Amino acid sequence: MTYLFSVDIEGISGVVSGPQCRMDSKEYDRAQKLMTKEANAAAKGAFNAGAETVYVTDGHGKMRNIIIEDLDERVELFSGRPKMLSQMEGLNEELTGVGYVGYHSSAHSQGTLSHTYSGAVVDKLMIGDVMASEFAMNSFLAAKYNVPIFFLAGDDEIIREAKELYPDIPHVLTKKATGRYSAKCRHPKVVRKEIKKKVKEAIENDRGRIIEPEETLFHVWFKDAGKLDNVELLPSVERTGPKEFMIDTGDLETNYKVFRACTMLATVDSQ
Ligand SMILES: [Zn+2]
Repeated sequence: MTYLFSVDIEGISGVVSGPQCRMDSKEYDRAQKLMTKEANAAAKGAFNAGAETVYVTDGHGKMRNIIIEDLDERVELFSGRPKMLSQMEGLNEELTGVGYVGYHSSAHSQGTLSHTYSGAVVDKLMIGDVMASEFAMNSFLAAKYNVPIFFLAGDDEIIREAKELYPDIPHVLTKKATGRYSAKCRHPKVVRKEIKKKVKEAIENDRGRIIEPEETLFHVWFKDAGKLDNVELLPSVERTGPKEFMIDTGDLETNYKVFRACTMLATVDSQ
């Protein structure tokens, strides 16, 4: 049994503001520790259920937030970027399941620190008819590899969004949004205990489920029309409005990669 945990920072308990998520901020060190401990709780839960191998993928920003020396010694960590599969690096057909820790809601929600992949660039992403969060994007990618999703820890809004795709997904609530930069946070120690227990139970009760997309088409809205001018150079992109475009290669994984390339091209200053 081999499990992968994809870990972000914005959905971790105690993390509520932008500066906590940025490496150059004084507040970052604490957030980084909180993120590492929640990831570790999930890994321990998987080992307690009999996992032989547990991978953790650092899925936030520069992707070197998790403090490896503070993880269970049996964990292997995908750290740094770029990684071909980004927040899902380590995904392959041999995995038994994927769990998410520290996940946050989509750009189109009122969750704490809500965004979809790039807070600076992306206003909205739809995959087929689904208003896509990172949870949705990554779960659809896992489906391509026939890998089930079995666990989610995050804020109330991402749990609500995830339930639209997997109504009884095993989950742990970390905080409830009271605003985009505020939340009612549960105590991190309580959250970690619950993550460890729920991950173990989810594995023992075989709660994983493959979350298939109905369509692979990506419909993307950017916040700023200027950010789309470079993106339009790509052959697989069709601009459908000043701020919107489609990616339709017919393959979910290729669309996922083109979408990520678009968010990077959008940050090139061409002026
Ligand atoms: Zn993040």
